[in-house]
Amino acid sequence: MQIKQILTFGSYLQEKYGKRVYKVPISISGFTCPNIDGTVARGGCTFCENDSFSPSLDKVQPLKGFHLNLDSKENPHLERQLKQLEEQFSTLSKRLRRDYGVEKFLVYFQSFTNTYAPFETLKALYEYALSFDDVIGLSIGTRSDSVTDETLSYLGKLSKEKEIWIEFGIQSVYDVTLERINRGHDSVNMRTWIGKAKAHGLNVCGHLIFGLPGETKEMMLYTAREAYGWGIDSVKYHPLYVVKRTALANEYARGEFKPISEEAYIDVLTEAILMKPENISVQRITAGIDDDSLISPQWCRNKNRQIRHINAALKQVGLKY
Ligand code: SF4
Repeated sequence: MQIKQILTFGSYLQEKYGKRVYKVPISISGFTCPNIDGTVARGGCTFCENDSFSPSLDKVQPLKGFHLNLDSKENPHLERQLKQLEEQFSTLSKRLRRDYGVEKFLVYFQSFTNTYAPFETLKALYEYALSFDDVIGLSIGTRSDSVTDETLSYLGKLSKEKEIWIEFGIQSVYDVTLERINRGHDSVNMRTWIGKAKAHGLNVCGHLIFGLPGETKEMMLYTAREAYGWGIDSVKYHPLYVVKRTALANEYARGEFKPISEEAYIDVLTEAILMKPENISVQRITAGIDDDSLISPQWCRNKNRQIRHINAALKQVGLKY
Protein backbone atom coordinates (compact mmCIF):
# COMPACT_ATOMS: atom_id res chain seq x y z
CA MET A 1 0.00 0.00 0.00
CA GLN A 2 1.27 3.45 -0.82
CA ILE A 3 1.75 5.57 2.29
CA LYS A 4 0.50 9.14 2.09
CA GLN A 5 1.90 11.97 4.20
CA ILE A 6 -0.74 13.89 6.18
CA LEU A 7 -0.53 17.65 5.60
CA THR A 8 1.27 18.99 8.66
CA PHE A 9 1.25 22.63 9.70
CA GLY A 10 5.04 22.71 9.25
CA SER A 11 4.82 21.53 5.67
CA TYR A 12 1.97 23.97 4.93
CA LEU A 13 4.19 26.84 6.11
CA GLN A 14 7.32 25.54 4.41
CA GLU A 15 5.45 25.23 1.14
CA LYS A 16 4.05 28.74 1.42
CA TYR A 17 7.21 30.55 2.57
CA GLY A 18 9.93 28.32 1.12
CA LYS A 19 11.64 28.17 4.52
CA ARG A 20 11.23 26.45 7.86
CA VAL A 21 8.79 28.44 9.96
CA TYR A 22 8.40 27.70 13.68
CA LYS A 23 5.95 28.96 16.26
CA VAL A 24 7.52 30.82 19.17
CA PRO A 25 5.30 30.39 22.25
CA ILE A 26 4.80 33.50 24.36
CA SER A 27 3.16 33.95 27.76
CA ILE A 28 2.31 37.49 28.81
CA SER A 29 1.79 38.37 32.49
CA GLY A 30 -1.51 40.03 33.23
CA PHE A 31 -3.45 37.91 30.75
CA THR A 32 -6.00 35.55 32.20
CA CYS A 33 -9.20 33.82 31.17
CA PRO A 34 -12.86 34.76 31.75
CA ASN A 35 -13.43 31.22 32.92
CA ILE A 36 -10.92 31.74 35.71
CA ASP A 37 -11.39 35.35 36.75
CA GLY A 38 -15.09 34.94 37.56
CA THR A 39 -16.49 36.77 34.52
CA VAL A 40 -17.92 33.55 33.09
CA ALA A 41 -17.03 31.14 35.86
CA ARG A 42 -14.40 30.46 38.46
CA GLY A 43 -11.97 27.59 38.54
CA GLY A 44 -11.64 27.26 34.78
CA CYS A 45 -12.14 24.16 32.68
CA THR A 46 -11.98 21.10 34.93
CA PHE A 47 -8.74 19.89 33.30
CA CYS A 48 -6.97 23.26 33.38
CA GLU A 49 -4.13 23.69 35.81
CA ASN A 50 -4.41 27.38 36.47
CA ASP A 51 -3.00 27.91 39.94
CA SER A 52 -0.60 30.51 38.73
CA PHE A 53 -2.46 32.86 36.40
CA SER A 54 0.51 33.86 34.30
CA PRO A 55 3.68 31.83 34.52
CA SER A 56 6.91 33.74 34.25
CA LEU A 57 9.08 32.31 31.50
CA ASP A 58 11.72 34.97 31.46
CA LYS A 59 13.63 37.55 33.39
CA VAL A 60 10.73 39.98 33.61
CA GLN A 61 8.96 39.36 36.90
CA PRO A 62 5.29 38.31 36.67
CA LEU A 63 2.73 40.94 37.52
CA LYS A 64 1.25 39.69 40.76
CA GLY A 65 -2.42 40.47 41.24
CA PHE A 66 -2.77 42.36 37.95
CA HIS A 67 -5.17 40.91 35.40
CA LEU A 68 -6.67 42.40 32.30
CA ASN A 69 -10.11 41.75 30.87
CA LEU A 70 -12.17 43.10 27.99
CA ASP A 71 -13.47 46.02 30.10
CA SER A 72 -10.13 47.09 31.60
CA LYS A 73 -9.99 50.85 31.21
CA GLU A 74 -6.25 51.21 31.40
CA ASN A 75 -3.15 49.11 31.37
CA PRO A 76 -0.34 50.64 33.41
CA HIS A 77 1.87 47.62 32.71
CA LEU A 78 1.86 47.67 28.92
CA GLU A 79 5.54 48.70 28.67
CA ARG A 80 6.48 45.81 30.89
CA GLN A 81 4.42 43.38 28.83
CA LEU A 82 6.08 44.58 25.63
CA LYS A 83 9.48 44.05 27.23
CA GLN A 84 8.43 40.58 28.32
CA LEU A 85 7.29 39.78 24.78
CA GLU A 86 10.60 40.98 23.36
CA GLU A 87 12.69 39.00 25.85
CA GLN A 88 10.77 35.77 25.37
CA PHE A 89 10.86 36.06 21.59
CA SER A 90 14.56 36.90 21.55
CA THR A 91 15.53 33.96 23.79
CA LEU A 92 13.41 31.37 22.03
CA SER A 93 14.04 32.49 18.47
CA LYS A 94 17.82 32.48 19.06
CA ARG A 95 17.57 28.92 20.31
CA LEU A 96 15.46 27.84 17.31
CA ARG A 97 17.89 29.45 14.87
CA ARG A 98 20.87 27.82 16.58
CA ASP A 99 19.43 24.32 17.16
CA TYR A 100 17.19 23.84 14.13
CA GLY A 101 18.30 26.39 11.57
CA VAL A 102 14.86 28.03 11.63
CA GLU A 103 14.70 31.23 9.60
CA LYS A 104 11.11 32.46 9.95
CA PHE A 105 8.76 32.66 12.90
CA LEU A 106 5.14 32.90 13.92
CA VAL A 107 4.71 34.53 17.33
CA TYR A 108 2.34 32.27 19.24
CA PHE A 109 0.39 33.95 22.03
CA GLN A 110 -0.25 30.72 23.84
CA SER A 111 -1.08 30.97 27.54
CA PHE A 112 -4.58 31.75 28.71
CA THR A 113 -6.91 33.87 26.53
CA ASN A 114 -4.91 36.14 24.29
CA THR A 115 -7.71 38.33 23.00
CA TYR A 116 -9.05 38.96 26.50
CA ALA A 117 -7.65 42.44 27.11
CA PRO A 118 -8.47 45.98 25.98
CA PHE A 119 -8.17 46.44 22.22
CA GLU A 120 -5.32 48.97 22.52
CA THR A 121 -3.24 46.50 24.55
CA LEU A 122 -3.83 43.74 22.01
CA LYS A 123 -2.94 46.02 19.14
CA ALA A 124 0.28 47.13 20.82
CA LEU A 125 1.38 43.57 21.56
CA TYR A 126 0.46 42.13 18.18
CA GLU A 127 2.10 44.96 16.26
CA TYR A 128 5.25 44.80 18.36
CA ALA A 129 5.47 41.04 17.74
CA LEU A 130 5.07 41.59 14.00
CA SER A 131 7.92 44.11 14.04
CA PHE A 132 10.53 41.53 15.14
CA ASP A 133 13.03 40.26 12.58
CA ASP A 134 11.84 37.33 10.48
CA VAL A 135 8.37 37.22 11.99
CA ILE A 136 5.89 36.38 9.25
CA GLY A 137 2.77 36.39 11.41
CA LEU A 138 0.91 35.56 14.58
CA SER A 139 -0.98 32.68 16.07
CA ILE A 140 -3.35 33.76 18.83
CA GLY A 141 -4.84 31.23 21.25
CA THR A 142 -8.23 32.20 22.63
CA ARG A 143 -11.81 31.25 23.49
CA SER A 144 -14.78 31.93 21.25
CA ASP A 145 -16.50 34.01 23.97
CA SER A 146 -13.51 36.34 24.26
CA VAL A 147 -13.15 37.80 20.79
CA THR A 148 -14.87 40.95 19.62
CA ASP A 149 -15.92 42.16 16.17
CA GLU A 150 -13.40 44.99 16.57
CA THR A 151 -10.50 42.61 17.19
CA LEU A 152 -11.49 40.26 14.37
CA SER A 153 -11.87 43.10 11.92
CA TYR A 154 -8.44 44.48 12.89
CA LEU A 155 -6.82 41.02 12.59
CA GLY A 156 -8.57 40.52 9.27
CA LYS A 157 -6.87 43.67 7.98
CA LEU A 158 -3.50 42.48 9.28
CA SER A 159 -4.01 39.15 7.56
CA LYS A 160 -3.90 40.82 4.15
CA GLU A 161 -0.15 41.29 4.68
CA LYS A 162 0.73 38.74 7.36
CA GLU A 163 0.05 35.12 8.26
CA ILE A 164 -2.58 35.51 10.97
CA TRP A 165 -3.99 32.50 12.81
CA ILE A 166 -6.50 32.38 15.59
CA GLU A 167 -6.69 29.21 17.68
CA PHE A 168 -9.97 28.31 19.33
CA GLY A 169 -10.42 25.64 21.96
CA ILE A 170 -13.36 23.65 20.63
CA GLN A 171 -12.80 20.46 22.66
CA SER A 172 -16.34 19.12 22.09
CA VAL A 173 -19.45 20.30 20.26
CA TYR A 174 -21.71 18.71 22.87
CA ASP A 175 -23.14 21.23 25.30
CA VAL A 176 -23.62 18.52 27.90
CA THR A 177 -19.87 17.89 27.80
CA LEU A 178 -19.01 21.58 27.75
CA GLU A 179 -21.09 21.98 30.91
CA ARG A 180 -19.49 18.99 32.54
CA ILE A 181 -16.00 20.40 31.97
CA ASN A 182 -17.11 23.87 33.11
CA ARG A 183 -16.24 25.39 29.76
CA GLY A 184 -18.43 28.44 30.31
CA HIS A 185 -19.77 28.73 26.76
CA ASP A 186 -21.79 26.57 24.43
CA SER A 187 -21.22 25.16 21.00
CA VAL A 188 -23.37 27.78 19.22
CA ASN A 189 -20.98 30.41 20.55
CA MET A 190 -18.03 28.54 19.02
CA ARG A 191 -19.70 28.03 15.68
CA THR A 192 -20.73 31.68 15.52
CA TRP A 193 -17.31 33.15 16.31
CA ILE A 194 -15.35 30.70 14.20
CA GLY A 195 -17.66 31.67 11.34
CA LYS A 196 -16.98 35.35 12.00
CA ALA A 197 -13.22 34.79 12.13
CA LYS A 198 -13.41 33.01 8.77
CA ALA A 199 -15.57 35.79 7.34
CA HIS A 200 -12.79 38.26 8.26
CA GLY A 201 -10.33 36.16 6.28
CA LEU A 202 -8.51 34.70 9.27
CA ASN A 203 -6.93 31.28 9.43
CA VAL A 204 -8.51 29.20 12.17
CA CYS A 205 -7.01 26.32 14.11
CA GLY A 206 -9.40 24.23 16.24
CA HIS A 207 -8.31 22.29 19.30
CA LEU A 208 -10.13 19.00 19.89
CA ILE A 209 -9.93 16.79 22.96
CA PHE A 210 -10.71 13.07 22.81
CA GLY A 211 -11.58 11.26 26.02
CA LEU A 212 -13.71 13.96 27.65
CA PRO A 213 -15.97 12.75 30.48
CA GLY A 214 -19.05 10.89 29.32
CA GLU A 215 -18.13 10.94 25.63
CA THR A 216 -18.35 7.92 23.35
CA LYS A 217 -16.24 7.38 20.25
CA GLU A 218 -19.22 8.43 18.11
CA MET A 219 -19.45 11.73 19.99
CA MET A 220 -15.74 12.41 19.50
CA LEU A 221 -15.99 11.72 15.79
CA TYR A 222 -19.10 13.88 15.49
CA THR A 223 -17.19 16.73 17.12
CA ALA A 224 -14.36 16.31 14.60
CA ARG A 225 -16.79 16.23 11.68
CA GLU A 226 -18.60 19.34 12.90
CA ALA A 227 -15.35 21.25 13.48
CA TYR A 228 -14.14 20.41 9.97
CA GLY A 229 -17.50 21.60 8.66
CA TRP A 230 -17.13 24.94 10.47
CA GLY A 231 -14.27 25.69 8.11
CA ILE A 232 -11.22 25.29 10.34
CA ASP A 233 -7.95 25.37 8.44
CA SER A 234 -5.85 23.44 10.91
CA VAL A 235 -6.45 21.08 13.83
CA LYS A 236 -4.80 19.99 17.05
CA TYR A 237 -5.87 16.62 18.50
CA HIS A 238 -5.30 16.04 22.16
CA PRO A 239 -6.07 13.19 24.61
CA LEU A 240 -7.53 14.26 27.95
CA TYR A 241 -5.17 13.53 30.81
CA VAL A 242 -5.43 14.32 34.49
CA VAL A 243 -2.95 16.63 36.17
CA LYS A 244 -2.64 17.61 39.80
CA ARG A 245 -4.43 20.62 41.27
CA THR A 246 -7.41 20.38 38.90
CA ALA A 247 -11.10 19.68 39.38
CA LEU A 248 -10.62 16.69 37.08
CA ALA A 249 -8.05 15.28 39.50
CA ASN A 250 -10.76 15.31 42.20
CA GLU A 251 -13.24 13.61 39.87
CA TYR A 252 -10.61 11.02 39.07
CA ALA A 253 -9.84 10.43 42.76
CA ARG A 254 -13.57 9.92 43.44
CA GLY A 255 -13.72 7.37 40.60
CA GLU A 256 -16.01 9.60 38.51
CA PHE A 257 -13.68 9.91 35.54
CA LYS A 258 -11.79 7.21 33.67
CA PRO A 259 -9.15 8.43 31.21
CA ILE A 260 -9.18 7.17 27.65
CA SER A 261 -6.88 4.20 26.92
CA GLU A 262 -4.10 4.58 24.38
CA GLU A 263 -5.79 2.04 22.09
CA ALA A 264 -9.11 3.89 22.18
CA TYR A 265 -7.36 7.23 21.58
CA ILE A 266 -5.44 5.91 18.57
CA ASP A 267 -8.59 4.30 17.21
CA VAL A 268 -10.65 7.51 17.34
CA LEU A 269 -7.73 9.64 16.18
CA THR A 270 -7.16 7.45 13.12
CA GLU A 271 -10.82 7.69 12.14
CA ALA A 272 -10.90 11.42 12.76
CA ILE A 273 -7.87 11.88 10.49
CA LEU A 274 -9.35 9.62 7.82
CA MET A 275 -12.51 11.74 7.64
CA LYS A 276 -10.57 15.03 7.67
CA PRO A 277 -10.53 17.06 4.44
CA GLU A 278 -6.94 16.88 3.16
CA ASN A 279 -6.45 20.65 3.09
CA ILE A 280 -6.89 20.95 6.88
CA SER A 281 -3.35 20.82 8.25
CA VAL A 282 -2.53 18.96 11.44
CA GLN A 283 -0.58 20.77 14.14
CA ARG A 284 -0.69 18.13 16.85
CA ILE A 285 -1.79 14.51 17.03
CA THR A 286 -1.28 13.89 20.71
CA ALA A 287 0.05 15.40 23.90
CA GLY A 288 2.39 14.19 26.58
CA ILE A 289 3.54 15.46 29.90
CA ASP A 290 6.50 13.84 31.53
CA ASP A 291 6.62 15.36 34.97
CA ASP A 292 5.25 14.94 38.47
CA SER A 293 2.05 16.77 37.70
CA LEU A 294 0.65 13.92 35.58
CA ILE A 295 -1.73 11.67 37.50
CA SER A 296 -3.20 9.55 34.71
CA PRO A 297 -3.08 7.92 32.17
CA GLN A 298 0.55 6.85 32.25
CA TRP A 299 0.71 6.34 28.48
CA CYS A 300 0.57 10.13 28.15
CA ARG A 301 4.01 10.35 29.77
CA ASN A 302 6.07 9.35 26.75
CA LYS A 303 5.22 11.41 23.70
CA ASN A 304 7.77 9.77 21.39
CA ARG A 305 6.33 6.37 22.13
CA GLN A 306 2.82 7.67 21.52
CA ILE A 307 3.86 9.05 18.13
CA ARG A 308 5.45 5.71 17.22
CA HIS A 309 2.25 3.88 18.12
CA ILE A 310 0.10 6.40 16.27
CA ASN A 311 2.24 6.18 13.16
CA ALA A 312 2.06 2.38 13.27
CA ALA A 313 -1.75 2.63 13.31
CA LEU A 314 -1.80 5.27 10.59
CA LYS A 315 0.40 3.08 8.41
CA GLN A 316 -2.29 0.40 8.51
CA VAL A 317 -4.63 2.82 6.79
CA GLY A 318 -2.03 4.18 4.36
CA LEU A 319 -1.12 7.40 6.17
CA LYS A 320 1.82 8.87 8.05
CA TYR A 321 2.30 11.91 10.25
S1 SF4 B 1 -10.29 28.29 28.50
FE1 SF4 B 1 -8.15 27.63 28.56
S2 SF4 B 1 -7.15 28.93 30.10
FE2 SF4 B 1 -9.37 29.15 30.36
S3 SF4 B 1 -9.86 27.69 31.97
FE3 SF4 B 1 -10.21 26.65 30.01
S4 SF4 B 1 -8.27 25.60 29.53
FE4 SF4 B 1 -7.85 27.10 31.18
